[in-house]
Amino acid sequence: MSPERYQRIRQVLERRQTDLTVCLENVHKPHNVSAVVRTCDAVGIHRVHTVWEKKYQFRRGTAMGSQQWVRQTNHDNINDAMAELKGQGMQVLVTHLSDTAVDFRDIDYTKPTAILFGQEKYGATDEAKAMADHDIVIPMMGMVQSLNVSVAAALVLYEAQRQRTIAGMYNTQQLSARHWPFKMGTLVCISFVSAKVCHCRLLIH
Ligand code: SAM
Repeated sequence: MSPERYQRIRQVLERRQTDLTVCLENVHKPHNVSAVVRTCDAVGIHRVHTVWEKKYQFRRGTAMGSQQWVRQTNHDNINDAMAELKGQGMQVLVTHLSDTAVDFRDIDYTKPTAILFGQEKYGATDEAKAMADHDIVIPMMGMVQSLNVSVAAALVLYEAQRQRTIAGMYNTQQLSARHWPFKMGTLVCISFVSAKVCHCRLLIH
């Protein structure tokens, strides 16, 4: 790994927003999962949560490998996911189209926040909606009822990124160096290893 690449990885880790996350509830099409995870990386999300109920579990692992830089925690059910997110003091926002939902731009994303996106066809479950702190909607002015889930995720996450940039939250390191995948000394040891292997080391911790 070149010093330049190391510095780049370091910068990325320093900007990671550990108190901003996404929960994908039964979003199971690999290209959608990949697209969302890619956006998560782009806005500095460190970990995504997934809920894949039994009938979707054959997809597990299919898409997550496509994005090497974001960690993933899977939950067997929405109750477990909500308990963990709320236990971390996060406000949980569920994205869906309802008359009572608030415009996604009216939310304060500088608070610890988890944003839940629902399944491609059926949307978020009633359980998720009942447990969430707010329903948020991206206004739709055309004929189609909803956006592709990865497009919806990009819009909401970039609003969060915009607010957090203004608040200076990318200038404050949130991810403790203790949780970094490598230490300075280790870098010297692995500097001769191919980039691919280095990638693996970054992931396995
Ligand atoms: N028929 C489903 C429904 O009514 O929820 C549509 C599901 S939509 C294709 C898949 C996911 O994308 C939703 O669960 C939500 O997370 C997100 N989504 C799509 N369009 C949205 C919008 N306009 N506002 C908020 N979320 C949206």
